[in-house]
Amino acid sequence: MADTSDPIKDFEKWKKKYNLKKARVKRERSQKKKPEWQVERENIARLVSKYGDIDSKEVIKFSDFPISKKTLLALQECQYRQPTEIQKQTIGFALQGKDVLGAAKTGSGKTLAFLIPVLECLYRQQWSSVDGLGALIISPTRELAYQTFEVLRKVGKNHDFSAGLIIGGKELKGESEKIHRTNIVICTPGRLLQHMDETAAFHASDLRMLVLDEADRILDMGFADTLNAIVENLPAGRQTLLFSATQTKSVKDLARLSLKEPEYVWVHEKAKFSTPATLEQSYVVCELHDKVNMLFSFIRSHLKKKIMVFFACCKEVQYLFRIFCRLRPGIPVLALHGKQQQMKRVEVYDDFLRKKNAVLFATDIAARGLDFPAVNWVLQYDCPEDADTYIHRVGRTARYKEGGEALLLLLPSEETGMIAQLQEKKVPVNKIQVNPEKLQNVQQKLEAFLAQEQEQKERAQRCFVSYLRSVYLMKNKGVFDVFKLPLHEYALSLGLAVAPRVRFLNKAEAQRAEKKPEEDEELSSFKAQLRGDGPRQEESEDDSEDDDDDDDGDDEDRAEAPPVDVDDDDLRDLDFLTLKRKDVFNTEEAHQAQVDDSSKTKPQKVTKFKEAKKILKRNFKVNTKVSFTEEGQAMQVWPPVQRSAASQDAVQEQDEEDDVSGINVEKAKERLRREDEEFDKREYSRKIKAKHREKRLKAKAARREASKQRGDKSEDRDEDDEDEVVAYLANSGEEEFDPSTLPDPDRHRDNSDDEDEDEPAKRSYSSSEEDEAPVRKRKKARQQQEEEHAVLDTGLSLAEDEQLVLQLLSGRT
Ligand code: ADP
Ligand code: MG
Repeated sequence: MADTSDPIKDFEKWKKKYNLKKARVKRERSQKKKPEWQVERENIARLVSKYGDIDSKEVIKFSDFPISKKTLLALQECQYRQPTEIQKQTIGFALQGKDVLGAAKTGSGKTLAFLIPVLECLYRQQWSSVDGLGALIISPTRELAYQTFEVLRKVGKNHDFSAGLIIGGKELKGESEKIHRTNIVICTPGRLLQHMDETAAFHASDLRMLVLDEADRILDMGFADTLNAIVENLPAGRQTLLFSATQTKSVKDLARLSLKEPEYVWVHEKAKFSTPATLEQSYVVCELHDKVNMLFSFIRSHLKKKIMVFFACCKEVQYLFRIFCRLRPGIPVLALHGKQQQMKRVEVYDDFLRKKNAVLFATDIAARGLDFPAVNWVLQYDCPEDADTYIHRVGRTARYKEGGEALLLLLPSEETGMIAQLQEKKVPVNKIQVNPEKLQNVQQKLEAFLAQEQEQKERAQRCFVSYLRSVYLMKNKGVFDVFKLPLHEYALSLGLAVAPRVRFLNKAEAQRAEKKPEEDEELSSFKAQLRGDGPRQEESEDDSEDDDDDDDGDDEDRAEAPPVDVDDDDLRDLDFLTLKRKDVFNTEEAHQAQVDDSSKTKPQKVTKFKEAKKILKRNFKVNTKVSFTEEGQAMQVWPPVQRSAASQDAVQEQDEEDDVSGINVEKAKERLRREDEEFDKREYSRKIKAKHREKRLKAKAARREASKQRGDKSEDRDEDDEDEVVAYLANSGEEEFDPSTLPDPDRHRDNSDDEDEDEPAKRSYSSSEEDEAPVRKRKKARQQQEEEHAVLDTGLSLAEDEQLVLQLLSGRT
């Protein structure tokens, strides 16, 4: 056998191979030696170089975006493969560093549209704990902040950033030192501002990205002052992303955020409807006194569903929740509202998240952003404030490709106005009717419960008054007319024997009857002179009464009705709701009803003298401009209010005077004098307080400066008494975030009332409904403090004191 092999050739071949291998090993070795940060830098440079080529139309998978492996991997694990439309259209702009205004229907995936850019932005800059706060995400409610935090924990798990949830509290002392090292903060506006003001080590001067989720809500009047104060603390060079289903385009709003040539992305701008296509929406016109029966019958016919029911106010939720638990409808009933303590809110939230069949009674704190899986129905027990609120409420169902149904209960007086608004906002809603035979009457049961328990009766009364107040305070008077409500029947339907006395309503009604369409100048100026306390002031009296009712510690609050009689199937709703596909927006009947009503309330002819007398007697507020705080309290804007405690006495006095005919000029003079004195006293106390505050701040700054020079951190630590939840994204693994570690901001606020002397007098830290109760408590405590200051300690010398008091008194005598 001839040997065909050529040893020289073989050797050459072998040598070539050897050299190649040697070179590869060398290359690999040299690569291995590259420090990790260098590899990371190269990866980042590669990604960034692709930013300019992003074409949202060509993106199909998340991996088509130049985003980090760390993010991609986590998205994959969460089963997020293909970006939704809003994600496709905004992520590119956000990566390129542009300001973005993103609008897309509810449930369309806006959360990831900002979380991915947040992660990439910090990754790109290799952000670490020493860099402090890099991104800030602001949510209107605690629940939404908590939910966003959970999503961030999942999609950011491979990154090394720390993330904090700042929704208040001071229980986790040990965490307090971490706060200034937190890279991504998710927060509600009020708590964030409090941190900015009070936590020495917490600053936002290096902030790279600001995100407002539910931006239109955060930019609206309720949060205006808080947000403006927050923005003042942020660097101008940051990037800003705004997202909402109902986006603001108002130049004024955007100017407040100093956006730089923002990209406006409105995914569904050309869509026929503004609500998800998979959402079926209907409305029923029903009398106020039929609503409880309607709700009960609805729940009884949907026992195997997951339902959210929206109410106008907390007191309604509190009362009806308890009553429905007692009625044992055959499905768990839960309640979520702003007067609950934070722990309870988290508990209810988690409970409803997990449950397959349940009914959640909620106020509008649950209207925005919350992503409960598989909610089948959204029932709006009370008419929403406006079409945007409607859109957000119904958006709790039919999320991300899922189906859902929504039912709106409208009073006859609300139909015309509300339906017109919905039509204008492109909301398709069908009018349906309820099968009267299926309507179950629970009034007698309610009466029996109230007869047994005084506490329930009081709750029913508060529910009654609060509901009327909420209707009265609604701005859109074309939809909400408290005078059209059948009060007696409504009270009976709640199980009450008689309608509670609603003082503000009596006064408002009297005022309305007095109001003449045209009044001459002479009379207006006379009225202006007789400026008095209007009915809305009394509102706030009622409000403060409400505050005393803190029954949230009650375990019953989360009690559930044990399921009974779950034999009915869901076909029941076909019986209960009879679909009547007639002209949805045909509102002729309702319009007619309104015309009839208005003719009844035609003002009676009265003489000028008589009218003037009545005005003086009833202490009407005339020629005034009233605006409303987020807590629903009316505040007189014009003319400036000079009245306080003295004016309340005046109301009482005038009630007493009511029987006396004629004008008691002497008494009126005396009252005016007292009011003026009261006003001056408060002004005096305010000035003293401001002076004190200035002194304290100076002292504090000096202390801080001194400790800095000493290199001593203890001063900071002492003042660093705000503790929050801080989680580290990396290595958080699959382990569940324990909500019990969430602090209890309500408790904190109660405590802080005693300690918090440094609080700026005028700043409203929180104006959302979620923080309603604690804010009022703080206000009360602050008032008390002010009074004490005025009496006990002015901070001035005795001589100065005397001089001031004499000055004040001399002006009065
Ligand atoms: P929005 O903020 O627009 O109301 P969310 O961000 O809460 O909507 O998302 C709605 C639902 O859609 C969530 O359950 C979320 O997990 C899911 N989702 C979002 N993006 C995607 C995606 N790309 N793929 C699959 N599901 C997604
Ligand atoms: Mg959202």
